[in-house]
Amino acid sequence: MINVSRPYIGIKEKKAVLEVLTSGNLAQGEKVEEFEINFAKYIGTKFAIATSNGTTALFLALSALGIGKGDEVITTSFSFIASANAILFTGAKPVFVDIESDSFNLNPSLIEKKISKKTKAILPVHLYGLPANMKEIKKIAKKHNLFVIEDACQAHGATIDGKKAGSIGIAGCFSFYATKNMTTGEGGMITTNNPGIAKKVKLLRQHGMEKRYHHKILGYNFRMMDITAALGIEQLKLLDERNKIRQSNAAFLTKELSKIGNIQTPKFDKTLTHVFNQYTIRVKKDFPLSRNGLIRFFASNGIGTGIYYPIPIHKQQVYKNLGYRIRLPVTEKLSKEVVSLPIHPQVTKANLRRIVQIFLKANKKSD
Ligand SMILES: *Cc1c(COP(=O)(O)O)cnc(C)c1O
Repeated sequence: MINVSRPYIGIKEKKAVLEVLTSGNLAQGEKVEEFEINFAKYIGTKFAIATSNGTTALFLALSALGIGKGDEVITTSFSFIASANAILFTGAKPVFVDIESDSFNLNPSLIEKKISKKTKAILPVHLYGLPANMKEIKKIAKKHNLFVIEDACQAHGATIDGKKAGSIGIAGCFSFYATKNMTTGEGGMITTNNPGIAKKVKLLRQHGMEKRYHHKILGYNFRMMDITAALGIEQLKLLDERNKIRQSNAAFLTKELSKIGNIQTPKFDKTLTHVFNQYTIRVKKDFPLSRNGLIRFFASNGIGTGIYYPIPIHKQQVYKNLGYRIRLPVTEKLSKEVVSLPIHPQVTKANLRRIVQIFLKANKKSD
C-alpha cells in the first residue's frame, strides 16, 4: 500500500535523538534553542519560538497580539480545524471568507465585505503548501489596520516572490506533525521579526516566567522537548532536498494527469513556490467516477488517497453548536471534489506511473 503521507526519518535523526536521550537533558533546553536559531535563519525572520504543536503556535501568536474576547479574526473554513479553533481559544470569533477554486486559499476579493469594527486580524492558511495571495491580503490589512498571521503549518519552505512563507505577516505559525513536510511527530514554531511578540510568546509558552519561578503573567506549558528539537534540527537540513522531490513528483503527475479531462490539477502563479504538502486535484462532476468511487478504485489498487478536508470548518458540529449558519459556496463545493494523491519523498517514479495508469483506467469506468 502506498500511503498518502509517510514520515521520513533517516539515520541522522535517529542518532540525534539517541544523543539527547543519553545526555539526560530531555526537556526544553539547548537543542530547542539551536532549532529555533536554525529555523529563524531558514525562514528569514529575526526570531523563531518553538512550541508543543502547530495549534499552540497559532494560539500563542494570536494571544501575544492581544487578540481575545470581543475581537474577530478573518480566516478560511477550508482548512484543518486548528486554524479556526486557535482563534476560538483566545475568546475571539473566527469569521470565515470563501476561497478561490484554483488555489484553494482565501479569496482576497471577498475579505473586505467581512471586515467589521471588531476585526483585528486576518489569518490566511497556505493550504497544501501553496501560499495564499499575500500581496492582496497585506494590502487589505494595511488599509484596515489589521494584523496578518500566517498559518504556514503546511508550507515549510514555500515562497512568495522569493520570500519564505511565515516571514510575510506579523507572525508565522508552523507545525511539525507527522504528515508535514518536515516532522518531529508533534511540534510547532512561531516566526516573527517583532521582538515584542517574540518576548510575549516566550512568556506565554512557559507559565509567564522570565526568571526562574518569577511569574509575570498567566502563561501555559506549551514547551518543546530537546528530543523533539534534535529531530527537527536534522529534518530542517533535509527539507529543501525533500521539497524538491515533492515538487518533481507533483510536476510528473500534473504533466500526465492534465491530459485527462474533468479533473483539475494544481494551478499556481509563477511568483510562488508550492511545496506540495499535499498534491490535491478536483474531480469534477463529468468525470466517469464520482470522487468517492475514484478513492475506492485507488484503494483497491493499493494506492492510498486523502480528502483534505471532507467537512468545512463552519459545517462541523462544534461550529454549528456555536451558531454558525453561513454559506460558503466554493468551500462547500470543493470539499466534495478534492482528493489528494501520494507524492511524498518516498513515492517512487514507478509508483507515480502506477497512479497515472490507475487514473487512465478510472477514466474508462463508471460507478
Ligand atoms: C497541521 C495543521 C495545524 C495544526 O498543527 P498541529 O501541530 O497538528 O497542532 C494547523 N493548521 C494547519 C493548516 C495544519 O495543517
